[in-house]
Amino acid sequence: MLSPNSLYPERSVRTIDRPVGESGNAARVPEYFGKNVFSSKVVEQRLEKGDFEAFERVRSGEESINEGLAGRLAQAVKDWATEQGVSHYCHWFQPQTGMTAEKHDAFIDFNDEGHIIEKFGAWSLMQGEPDASSFPSGGIRSTFEARGYTGWDPRSPIFILENENGKTLYIPCVFLGYHGESLDFKTPLLRSDDALKVELNRLLTFLDEDTTGLHFDTTVGPEQEFFVIDKQLAMQRPDLRVAGRTVVGKEPAKTHELDDHYFGSIPTRVQAMLNELELELYKVGVPIKTRHNEVAPCQFEVAPIFETANVAIDHNQLLMNLLKIVGDRHDFSVLLHEKPFAGMNGNGKHVNWSVSDNRGRNYLDPGKTPHENLLFLTFLSGVLKGISAHEEALRASIASFGNDHRLGANEAPPAIMSVFLGDVLSRIMSGLEDGKIVSVGAEKALLDLGVTGLQNLRKDNTDRNRTSPFAFTGNKFEFRAVGSSAPIGYPVAVLNAAVASGLRDLNNRLDRFKNSGGQVSQEKVLEVLSELARETRAVRFEGDGYSDDWKAEAEKRGLSHNRNTPAALAGFLKPEVHSFLVEQGVLSENDVKSRIFIQTERYVKHRLIEMRVAIEMVETGILPSAYEYVGSLTESAHKLKELGVVNVSLDQLKTVADLTNALVKSLESFKTAVAKVSGDEALEENVILQTAHVVADEILVKHENMRAAADSLEAVLPAHLYPFPTYGEMLFNSY
Ligand code: ADP
Ligand code: MG
Repeated sequence: MLSPNSLYPERSVRTIDRPVGESGNAARVPEYFGKNVFSSKVVEQRLEKGDFEAFERVRSGEESINEGLAGRLAQAVKDWATEQGVSHYCHWFQPQTGMTAEKHDAFIDFNDEGHIIEKFGAWSLMQGEPDASSFPSGGIRSTFEARGYTGWDPRSPIFILENENGKTLYIPCVFLGYHGESLDFKTPLLRSDDALKVELNRLLTFLDEDTTGLHFDTTVGPEQEFFVIDKQLAMQRPDLRVAGRTVVGKEPAKTHELDDHYFGSIPTRVQAMLNELELELYKVGVPIKTRHNEVAPCQFEVAPIFETANVAIDHNQLLMNLLKIVGDRHDFSVLLHEKPFAGMNGNGKHVNWSVSDNRGRNYLDPGKTPHENLLFLTFLSGVLKGISAHEEALRASIASFGNDHRLGANEAPPAIMSVFLGDVLSRIMSGLEDGKIVSVGAEKALLDLGVTGLQNLRKDNTDRNRTSPFAFTGNKFEFRAVGSSAPIGYPVAVLNAAVASGLRDLNNRLDRFKNSGGQVSQEKVLEVLSELARETRAVRFEGDGYSDDWKAEAEKRGLSHNRNTPAALAGFLKPEVHSFLVEQGVLSENDVKSRIFIQTERYVKHRLIEMRVAIEMVETGILPSAYEYVGSLTESAHKLKELGVVNVSLDQLKTVADLTNALVKSLESFKTAVAKVSGDEALEENVILQTAHVVADEILVKHENMRAAADSLEAVLPAHLYPFPTYGEMLFNSY
């Protein structure tokens, strides 16, 4: 590998044009935030009052849209967009590829006289018919027509994305099959939200609250982690080009043992990129708030202010798309993969989650004295019941080829789902098990800083536990096991449905005790909470999730431990694991099966890509370099002998030759194994799960063996002969 500096002599920092405000100076964020969003404000300006109010009801889920209103909205959207120079629109949806999909249409049509005019009607806004046969459907549509429809989701705002070459209107959509099968990640989310609302309404009625006019919102704030690598370096790695992670490569001399990257100052070149990213995101209304260096070298995190789940999830998709696009403009490769570099901290997406309502309550806010807050305790018990009953489904919802490398490794939670509550709540739950309300005064939760002049900080009711997959963090849960590249609609849908199911169980018990007015007395509520506290003991865990003790303990407690994706999906296939999703109306039985098939197929195909590229890199890069080195060592040994040097040491030659032989052997064994599963028949629906098991349990080990051999060889090859940018170069010479 040549020195990257010689390849890339000038790494300039790209500057960006900020929007200009009224003063003529750079505009401040509130002046341009959401300027490319077809927001309520725009609707209010452009539609009659009655239409505006009707649309607000549609957006809050109270009404569905009618064709008349859709027609007037379409006109307003088109006028608003074309006035700003937008030429195309697209239905933007989330098929199960893990990415978003879009097909652009121009706002044009022929009129009756045969002239081109601008046109965009109700049906163009509301419905599209992409060629669905090319999207993953898990075979469910083969029995029906191979048709899929996109349908406008009016609850998530329409927006304009712009770049140097034009502007396009994006219409957030669901993606359905001809008979209503859900083919995307958004539909289950919207359904799960509805399921949760039904149970929350029931619960509040038992607790004697008037629910007229009450609206609930699932809230989500995803923290996004990623690596930023110089594009010139990344593009010389075939593995990063096609698989998004390195499949060979030796750990560098330094990783993150000094903890000197985390929260360090952001490198100028990266900050320039993040500035531009934020600017683009602000224009489309994504409230990005924090940015910081993460644990590993070249690793960063950004997070928005939380929003309604549906919107937050669309915004996270936008964030992931724009990270790639803006990164590219700054000559970076942004790696969203869960484990781009072996031995290094992986990328996660901490999905912060709660439920709130239009009366300003957050149902996970314990207040000052949680034991007094009956609603909080009841909701919390429903959440715990849901997680405890459906932990295996939750595990499956975050399963992916990438996340397999991360779960259970450095800084990532294990593949066992448990809940961390923190000291105070744990004590309350233990008390509840015995039917007692433990009093923990708010005054105890003050942390005296012991420095005169500094006021006391309110201590979070929870410590941090970085090893827990699902941790309570003061007034929300943090689902930390989600992978960085994952579209979060799906895990959040499963989480919502699990909680809805937990609440349903709780509600059904309360129902037995209701009086003639439909309310339940406090004593009876506590009796039910006490039952639930005992039943959810197994899933509550405050200790170290990394320890082997926990694995043994979790098994004793009856928690599932599905170590990899095929095991997690096989678990999910069991009716007792997934039937709650069907009962909650989130997925049909067919949807579940098709999803398992799609995810398994994705698992196998991605693994095959990784395996092929690993073989290619060894055969066309590393081995030829090794032979060259062996050749040159042999040649110099001969020369030395010719020159009459008697004690020529052949140690290095022998070492390199042995390592090369070991690599050849492990390569052969790996290739033979890969050949067994690389044919089309291995991907057939009835055998694919088996194939996936073989890949995960047998072939991956061979891959790792080959990698170990290749990496040992890397350790002895002269630097100029190693054919790819090394870990050291990528991680410590990217900027
Ligand atoms: P951390 O210390 O884990 O980084 P932050 O305070 O930065 O925690 O919050 C992380 C994310 O959680 C942010 O996106 C934040 O907006 C979000 N968040 C805060 N409150 C809620 C809530 N009630 N529901 C959902 N997300 C929330
Ligand atoms: Mg966090």
